[in-house]
Amino acid sequence: MKKIIVLMVCMLMTVFTTMQAQNSKSPFIGDWELKAGGPLDGTTLGLSIKDDGGKLKGMLVAPSLGSSQIELSNIQVVSAKELKYSFGIQGIDVEASMVLKDNNSLTGTLAGQYPFEGKRNNNIMAQLSHGQSATNAVPERSDKIGAGMTPTMSEYWSPKPKVVTPGNQATASAPSDAIVLFDGTEKSMTDNWVTVNMRTQEVAPAKWIIKDGAMTVNKDMRNGGGNIQTKESFGSFQLHIEWCVPEMSAEFTSQIRGNSGVYLQNMYEVQILDSYNNDTYVNGMAGSIYKQSAPLANAMRKPGEWNVFDIIYNAPEFNADGTYKVRPYVTVIQNGVVLQNHTEILGTTEYIGFPQVKVHGDGPILLQNHGDPSPSISFRNIWIRKM
Ligand code: MG
Repeated sequence: MKKIIVLMVCMLMTVFTTMQAQNSKSPFIGDWELKAGGPLDGTTLGLSIKDDGGKLKGMLVAPSLGSSQIELSNIQVVSAKELKYSFGIQGIDVEASMVLKDNNSLTGTLAGQYPFEGKRNNNIMAQLSHGQSATNAVPERSDKIGAGMTPTMSEYWSPKPKVVTPGNQATASAPSDAIVLFDGTEKSMTDNWVTVNMRTQEVAPAKWIIKDGAMTVNKDMRNGGGNIQTKESFGSFQLHIEWCVPEMSAEFTSQIRGNSGVYLQNMYEVQILDSYNNDTYVNGMAGSIYKQSAPLANAMRKPGEWNVFDIIYNAPEFNADGTYKVRPYVTVIQNGVVLQNHTEILGTTEYIGFPQVKVHGDGPILLQNHGDPSPSISFRNIWIRKM
């Protein structure tokens, strides 16, 4: 009898210890879906807080703010309900705080002024991580761009464009009337390209990495990284741009492999991606009008080799009521193979939801820092002719 009592006490103690261990787990741990308010109204962010050997570690995903997969720093537990942390985005350090309302919801601020509300969502990191950064523009309200939609609802996976092996091409030097936007020198980068801080709209000289006549995307947001855009604005144009996806390990797949993009007038993305033996949704392949129009062929060169885009773009005109009078059209040729043949652009590039019609005038060419963890792609020999 005594033995049985001892055994029962031991079992009870085990149960009690387990409960205690569970109770001592930080209430901040988990994946949270954050909805920003204020000027970022409707922007969705993903926040993941994990226990890393007794220390809290965190990651933020913010595709619509031009970045994803940002590691949190300076995580401080202020109280049982409040956590503070900071992260770098668009070259600035942003401090944030979150306060638990209950076990499943929270409230907080970004940069001390942008309010957000949050709730637990175990899928949010996967949903947003496979995403696409938007432009530097202030995000649209979510109730306009994708109410009730998930990112996968605007992906199409078939039919697969045929694979075409491109022929040899000599490097095309700029014609006499072209504006050279990048000739391999640091001077041509800083003369022609800038980074725009999304929050403050502060403009700084582009700070991508110049090496061997190419510029490589700088993903280090704390050190001048981010998207870059031309100082000059353009209407209709012919653009020549060469790009190279570096060789990288097979762990990087789908949209997390050589992702960048050329934004026409800072509105419409012609996708850049490693489409060489890399399966993804067809309206997200290299040369797609992102989430709109799949390319007619897959003319991708291997990682480590240079690809050429020649893009012919016809800018839209608008009616007084904000609808298109003349829609934007684009032709995209990759390595001498037509991918888009005078394709009608339906509207803005949206990661979630469908294209929107937004009135705009001339705009810059923007090159995307996708912000995912795969090795950065490079660009060279960029020139443009106004039409
Ligand atoms: Mg992209």
